[in-house]
Amino acid sequence: SPRVLSGIQPTADSFHLGNYLGAVRQYVAMQEGYDAFYCVVDLHAITVDYRPEELRRRSRVAAAQLFAAGLDPERSTVFVQSHVREHTELAWVLICLTGMGEAGRMTQFKDKSAKHGESSASVGLFTYPVLQAADILLYQANKVPVGADQKQHLELTRDLAQRFNHRFGETFTVPEPHIVKGVEKITDLQEPTAKMSKSSSSPAGILDLLEQPGPLRKKVMRAVTDTGSEVLADDDNKPGITNLLRIQSALSGTPIGELEARYVGQGYGTFKKDVAELVVDTFTPIRERTEKLLADETELDRMLAVGAARARAVAAETMAKVRDRVGFLPTP
Ligand code: ATP
Ligand code: MG
Repeated sequence: SPRVLSGIQPTADSFHLGNYLGAVRQYVAMQEGYDAFYCVVDLHAITVDYRPEELRRRSRVAAAQLFAAGLDPERSTVFVQSHVREHTELAWVLICLTGMGEAGRMTQFKDKSAKHGESSASVGLFTYPVLQAADILLYQANKVPVGADQKQHLELTRDLAQRFNHRFGETFTVPEPHIVKGVEKITDLQEPTAKMSKSSSSPAGILDLLEQPGPLRKKVMRAVTDTGSEVLADDDNKPGITNLLRIQSALSGTPIGELEARYVGQGYGTFKKDVAELVVDTFTPIRERTEKLLADETELDRMLAVGAARARAVAAETMAKVRDRVGFLPTP
């Protein structure tokens, strides 16, 4: 069966609603019909400032959330990126095939480095998209479920795969992004034109999967809405209401048109209350399962060891081919 791969960063104490709808929920759905590989990308997480103990904790929390959200360790290979050395090895080979100008066009680097000034950003942050390409190509993935913000990185991945194949002979599957309309860019509750983000959203703008019902409700009720009182989807004039409609539609499986009809003449208050309850009802069981998984670290680490072994077997096979194709001597 075709293969799917995706990664998620342990850069916060919890995933957020954007991660859940844009990525994690697709991971769960794609266990059906795909040979699935999902990784906690700790090598990506060290491209920005971090603390070692915090990273270690967050990596386990990230893995626990993936299992809690519905990844089945029997069907999916769930692993931690740094456990599979081939990611960094292939990244180096691909870095040598990437043009400076090509890498310099990546908008995520521009956005993330702008915060502290481009010259103090790490070289790792600059080469981040190439490491991401290595993650994907190592597993010969056909599909990569991601949010819209990763579209440009997926294009680079495809370009690198084609370039390598052209120069050294057919080696890599050229992957396709799997971006689901309606949930590809969940926005910040306080800044409804910006992406909800682990690293740049304010606490009031972000709905965390592991958050308690009280704060979740409060944040939805205080979400920036727009002038007027009609619950209608309109990206240009009502980005706040539109974001909440997308969230409600995705979580309930109800088309947006039907929701618009339901709230005619009711104002924003009732609508927001319903969205808040839906978020709480979705997040609560995932939070409870995550807490349970984290209570037994030995078992969680064992599950990740199983994932690492399965991932390593596939990665090693690809990397052996790559080493030969690029002209390295056989490993003594
Ligand atoms: P950071 O701000 O540290 O980059 P992030 O919130 O972007 O964190 P990532 O771990 O980088 O989270 O992304 C994991 C996955 O979630 C990616 O596939 C990404 O495209 C997706 N994603 C992130 N934010 C959103 C969002 N607001 N809407 C939809 N998908 C999202
Ligand atoms: Mg991101």
